[in-house]
Amino acid sequence: MEKIICQGCGAEVQTEDPNAVGYAPASALEREDIICKRCFRLKHYNEVQDVDLTDDDFLRMLNDIGATNGIIVKVIDIFDFNGSFINGLPRFTGEKPIILVGNKVDLLPKSINPNKVKQWMRRSAKELGLKVSDVFLVSAKSGTGMKEVAEGIESLRRNKDVYVVGCTNVGKSTFINHLIHETTGEKEAITTSYFPGTTLGFIDIPLDEKSSLFDTPGIINHHQMAHYVSEKDLKVITPQKEIKPKVYQLNEGQTLYFGGLARFDFEKGEKSSFVCYFSNELMIHRTKLEKADELYKNHVGEMLTPPSPEAVEQLPPLQPKTFHVEEGKTDIVFSGLGWVTVPEGGVTITAHIPEGVRVSLRPSLI
Ligand code: GDP
Repeated sequence: MEKIICQGCGAEVQTEDPNAVGYAPASALEREDIICKRCFRLKHYNEVQDVDLTDDDFLRMLNDIGATNGIIVKVIDIFDFNGSFINGLPRFTGEKPIILVGNKVDLLPKSINPNKVKQWMRRSAKELGLKVSDVFLVSAKSGTGMKEVAEGIESLRRNKDVYVVGCTNVGKSTFINHLIHETTGEKEAITTSYFPGTTLGFIDIPLDEKSSLFDTPGIINHHQMAHYVSEKDLKVITPQKEIKPKVYQLNEGQTLYFGGLARFDFEKGEKSSFVCYFSNELMIHRTKLEKADELYKNHVGEMLTPPSPEAVEQLPPLQPKTFHVEEGKTDIVFSGLGWVTVPEGGVTITAHIPEGVRVSLRPSLI
């Protein structure tokens, strides 16, 4: 097939992968001015849509952003900090001001202290080498916090361009679509622009005569739990509504399974109440530690689901990691799934999670 270039963003048009750059349905190839689906949606509905990037394109893109004089807005999913972190980012951002936006705050139970969430985001970013100028918590879906973040961007950017970056699925498109209404209010303000050195269309949303906000393509993070489960299972583990915490009183030697995707062994300590924060649809099973391995072997994909039976094969084996919680209320965080609050120190926990996905500790958010 002859190479076809999208008239909107300059990407090479392809008809195979709807999530990748340059996708257009085969029927679009019959038109005169061929544009990709992403540009089509932008042109006709003023709506941005995410596309996935290959690692090479991604590095090139970071390099190019690194060389500009703009500020960076990095969107993460607060249920998946590690999974939505862009690992190469600190190398390219240098001294550029960075705003960190934690999305999906609508899912947090009311008992959670937003300031503690922000402190944790700031601390975690620092541990990963990223120095941030400001942190915001938003719900791109409901609009909570969007006005504040729009003002924060405006005061930090001082007439410079703004680059919005994020992994796929964090809600970057929803965030930008909301921001467009918040900042421009204008209907026909959006265009795509060719970014130097890449075949990628950055969506260019003029902020004033001299500067723009750019939406960059979504980046795939291979450590995201989302990549190890099927689309159907992803719907189960992604919370849709405010999370209702579930409390389990456990004695040492008891285990909890979160579907068949993660496991929490209470190895040692006094009888305690553990609070579980996961999607309301995710089933939790309690069992004895000594029987836990066998239960998994016999029931993963049926009683312990997700993974659904057809997705068991693609799930990497669960890997154990043992934590001695020394003091204070602590969360054991299963990246992309949720967390368990351990009420006090002096306990030993082994957490199991698919190989490649992170499990970590943080001071409790309550
Ligand atoms: P992108 O891939 O980063 O552009 O993400 P999308 O904007 O397509 O959103 C990914 C998923 O997250 C969709 O199912 C959205 O409905 C959902 N989502 C986005 N923002 C929010 C939010 O603020 N709260 C909740 N609960 N879900 C959100």
